[in-house]
Amino acid sequence: MADKLYLVKEGEISLKGGNRNLFEKRLRHNIKDKLRPYHSEINKQKGRLYAYIDEAAPDAMIEKALSTTSGITGFAKAHRAEKDMDAIVRCAASILPGAFSEKGSFKIAVKREDKAFPFSSRDIAVKLAEVVHGIYPELTVDLDNPGNTLTCEVRGEAYLYTSESKAIGGLPVGTAGKGMVLLSGGIDSPVAAQMMAKRGMKADAIYFHAYPYTSDEALEKVKKLASLIAPYMQGMRLFVVPFTDGQIHIRDNGYEEEATLMFRAAMMQTAERIAKEHGAIAIITGEALSQVASQTLDAMSFTDSMTDLLVLRPLVGMDKEDIIARAREIGTYETSILPYEDCCVVFSPKHPVTRPVKEVSRRHFGELGMEPFIENAVRDTVVYTFDAAGKEVIDG
Ligand code: ATP
Ligand code: MG
Repeated sequence: MADKLYLVKEGEISLKGGNRNLFEKRLRHNIKDKLRPYHSEINKQKGRLYAYIDEAAPDAMIEKALSTTSGITGFAKAHRAEKDMDAIVRCAASILPGAFSEKGSFKIAVKREDKAFPFSSRDIAVKLAEVVHGIYPELTVDLDNPGNTLTCEVRGEAYLYTSESKAIGGLPVGTAGKGMVLLSGGIDSPVAAQMMAKRGMKADAIYFHAYPYTSDEALEKVKKLASLIAPYMQGMRLFVVPFTDGQIHIRDNGYEEEATLMFRAAMMQTAERIAKEHGAIAIITGEALSQVASQTLDAMSFTDSMTDLLVLRPLVGMDKEDIIARAREIGTYETSILPYEDCCVVFSPKHPVTRPVKEVSRRHFGELGMEPFIENAVRDTVVYTFDAAGKEVIDG
């Protein structure tokens, strides 16, 4: 077998009862999908997934695939040895050089699942510690806070590894239905999208573009964000909705203080159309309570009332700092802070209403007669497709 082997830990799936198989099947499918065009085979034994992946697949690609797949809490590239003490020692001797730092401490972690193996965990640890000392004479043992760890698992075979990566946890994408995320060029909405993907939700994205008030660069930025989110979503489409005429109509015919609210209401109704066309039953936004005028309880209550769809706001209780930290973790922050303005900024009133009265704002929205603008916008929407690796698919 010339395949690479990765040991993959499931997270919350392991708590599932009757549907567990469905979740696991989806997880395996998602991982394999991300590793294409390379061949992979994923087996399961005792709460562990064993991913056998074509030797030709680059480690960096595999690591990116596993670290963007929800449903996994961690993974390690493992080396196999026969279940035989000499073979285990030889395997350790071959993988250790270069794997540990020269100075500091280490620990041998042994998981002896096969209770018939004739050596105890302690026996194995002592033998392997000797190997470590032979190669790294300056390292000391520290069981509580080791600088380096060599893990040996004795199961069907023996598996050895020197580093373990954390993954995102959650549940596999495709197990929680479909949504549409309102993706702006900001920091918040990509984080909101990733958080729902982490809970197993598949979503496409919608961006309202007000060219030329928002530039081509702003669109490129949103496309870039979509490509960064796509791996978490196992691939994603981006619907770009031209909304300049609608924006101008609101600006010229509505109350200035309500402009943002009216635009948000129009966004909800447009998104609802696109969502229904594509089988999505929820809208996801990057709103956080009271972060800006349109995100007060009253304002959100108003925008909520403009659609029948469930509106999910996964960031609602988060501080900006926490959101930024997550944006850094998932790799969207640097793109989000590029300076191109989004359309809300361009059309923002100086003194926005923060406590709209729902019934009054709903009436004002009705008086604007947005229907034809929404219809045109949906009709002229342009779709971009990104695959599970985040690459744009042309002619998809
Ligand atoms: P973000 O950082 O995501 O841009 P924000 O703090 O700037 O959010 P707003 O601009 O008020 O807040 O937008 C709130 C939410 O509305 C966004 O998180 C996003 O989900 C959605 N949204 C705003 N502008 C657009 C747009 N042009 N296209 C699509 N969705 C948008
Ligand atoms: Mg914004």
